[in-house]
Amino acid sequence: MQPSRATPDLARHLDDEMRTQERQLVGVRLAVVVLGIGFLALFGEPIQGRFALIGLLVGVAAYSLLIPVLLTRLPVGPVAALGVVADMATVTGVVWLASNVSDSYLFYALVILGTAVRFGMVASIVASMAMSLLYLAVVLATAEPDTALRVLLPVRVLFLVTFGVVAGLFSRIIIGRAAANSRLLQRLQDEEQERDDLQDRVAREQHAQRAKDDFLSVVSHELRTPLTSIQGYSQLLEARLRSAERDESKALAHVRVILSQVTRMRRLVDDLLDVNTIDRHGGARIEPVDFDLADVLRDAVARVAREQPAREIALNAPVSLPVHLDRERVDQVLSNLIENAVKYSPEGGPIRVAAIDHPHEVEVRVSDNGLGIPADQREHIFERFYQVDDGPGRGRRFGGLGLGLAISRAIVEGHGGRIWTEVNAEAGRGSVFAFRMPRAAEPADLNLHGSDEPPPFVTGSAGR
Ligand code: ADP
Repeated sequence: MQPSRATPDLARHLDDEMRTQERQLVGVRLAVVVLGIGFLALFGEPIQGRFALIGLLVGVAAYSLLIPVLLTRLPVGPVAALGVVADMATVTGVVWLASNVSDSYLFYALVILGTAVRFGMVASIVASMAMSLLYLAVVLATAEPDTALRVLLPVRVLFLVTFGVVAGLFSRIIIGRAAANSRLLQRLQDEEQERDDLQDRVAREQHAQRAKDDFLSVVSHELRTPLTSIQGYSQLLEARLRSAERDESKALAHVRVILSQVTRMRRLVDDLLDVNTIDRHGGARIEPVDFDLADVLRDAVARVAREQPAREIALNAPVSLPVHLDRERVDQVLSNLIENAVKYSPEGGPIRVAAIDHPHEVEVRVSDNGLGIPADQREHIFERFYQVDDGPGRGRRFGGLGLGLAISRAIVEGHGGRIWTEVNAEAGRGSVFAFRMPRAAEPADLNLHGSDEPPPFVTGSAGR
């Protein structure tokens, strides 16, 4: 809500309403003139000075027609006040001229009502008093003592003042309600405007987000294609060199460097693509199959043992752990946790992988004796691009994008599970990364319109 804009708008709205009201009152006055002249022409025979009365009514018609002109040049308040004064003068003229018509004072009531509706309670009472005085003056000047007009004077004056109070109260209720309604209307319009602005902003942000996602998707896809072939050829080259030369040659060492760097790059690009796909679908897509988790754990541990011969890596798991989960995705989480344990703990430091069989769930724990995570950062490390920086010794020393744990969390949550980290209490240092998920996962209902493919315009350029 912006009061600075709402207040002038409200004032303008009320001003417009008052102008419309004044124009409508012109119509009412003209109708009274026509009726009055018609009445006087047909039945005005016994009324003294009826031609003067007709002249007065013509005068009313004249100033009524002047009001719309004045409204185009002057503020509405003074024009309305001028109308009230002219009406008062006219009614006083009528009462004066038709002094033999004893009920003519009732015309004052019309003027009081008009004042009350336009200006409210105080104006209504003041107008009723002013008119009572005018009436008093006219009657005292025109009626003989002891006539009915004189005798009834106090009652009539009382009537006019009471009428002023009642009309004032009436207008307070009506005008008050009308003002409250206008304010409400104004607030409603403001809120609608605000909602429209917000929708615009959200649409713009969604557009920007989509553009960023599309860009990321295009770049990752484009990088992935050459990387895949570099990786494939360097693997081939390494295998050839290995079989052709009995000893480690320089060429073989160089090819191994290329292979390890390209594998690292490929992992980064895969992580970017994964995050992009998770964004597009609103979560990690899970395709559960039946498999034995114990097998996957054994394979993962054997793989690390092969790649890191200097590491002591142990597995403690039941012989068989049948589950219904996304095998590839679970393997991805496991690999990420074990690779982190290797990366963030000293060379040769022990790594333990354990699986616990709960009644309806399985829990996997990966422990190391490494750097550990400061307590205040334990929640944050599952956020995207978050990397622990506790001064010299860590920082960007280890490279990476800080996406692995965010992807792992999306995968675990996609299975309806949770992932966390704790201090490695057993070793007294280092950390434990653990996840727990149902034995049988129900894939969440994700955004089915999203696709793993890059946006369509990339497909055209992919063949270059
Ligand atoms: P990356 O390893 O590519 O930086 P991750 O999302 O896998 O990204 O990890 C996020 C951050 O969490 C890492 O940068 C590191 O600071 C911290 N971290 C992850 N695993 C461990 C661990 N086992 N020991 C200590 N710190 C860790």
